[in-house]
Amino acid sequence: MRTNISENLTEISLNKNLKPLEDEIRLLYLKNQNDIEYLKKLEKMRTQFIGNVSHELRTPIFNIQGYLETLLDGALEDEKVNRLFLEKANKNTINLSHLLNDLIDLSMIESGEMRMSFRYFNLKDFLDSFVDEYVQLAKHKGLILTICDFNENIKVFGDKNKLQQVFTNLIQNAIKYTNEGEIKITIEEEAKKVLIKISDTGIGIPPADIDRIFERFYRVDKARSREVGGTGLGLAIVKHIIEAHHSKIRVKSELNSGSEFSFILKK
Ligand code: ADP
Repeated sequence: MRTNISENLTEISLNKNLKPLEDEIRLLYLKNQNDIEYLKKLEKMRTQFIGNVSHELRTPIFNIQGYLETLLDGALEDEKVNRLFLEKANKNTINLSHLLNDLIDLSMIESGEMRMSFRYFNLKDFLDSFVDEYVQLAKHKGLILTICDFNENIKVFGDKNKLQQVFTNLIQNAIKYTNEGEIKITIEEEAKKVLIKISDTGIGIPPADIDRIFERFYRVDKARSREVGGTGLGLAIVKHIIEAHHSKIRVKSELNSGSEFSFILKK
């Protein structure tokens, strides 16, 4: 039986009467179709990403330009506003530098250039080396940040620097999105692993947004995130790092009650 390949190739179910070679050509075509669809999707994502980056860069740059122009147009002599405008321009510069740092991290991770250095290290010493800074930051906002008691001898396996980035990102978010109450770091030891939880009594995440917060640039409230110096990239970076540790980042949240981010590390 002759089959018109060009007409019938897109059929998903294979015609049983086809000769093996024609079957193979059809399978190859379907595979290529999938590859083409995949490439098209990739291209669309790339275009979207460039659009997002340009948009994110534009906002602080426009703001800085606006404040500086207003100052040059005369506000510089106005003592009531000159300092305020300079502070606002400075804040936008800081946001811009956070964004560029996160973009560099993300591009290193996604291009496979992120170097990881895995080793065993003591979890208590590790946390002690940086958490105090955030205890002070939380205190400054009227919040209490605590590490619940845990076995001081636990050693975990991972990349210390990258894990510090994970912890600081999650702790900073907990501080940023909590107006009152506390932030807790809990360590639960299991046979061969350690469960780490970072919880807060903050604003929580609406159920409709929870599956999307790990996407690049996804923010529940863009204005609030920018106001507190967010880039919308932190959790995308956290997710990559945790996955590189063969683990998964999980989140539970209740609107206006708080959120809990958790992940497992190998012991
Ligand atoms: P951002 O720089 O905006 O904080 P992230 O990628 O770290 O970006 O987080 C993405 C979004 O997830 C945030 O904009 C915020 O809406 C939400 N989010 C993250 N952590 C928390 C938290 N602890 N409580 C409430 N919302 C959070």
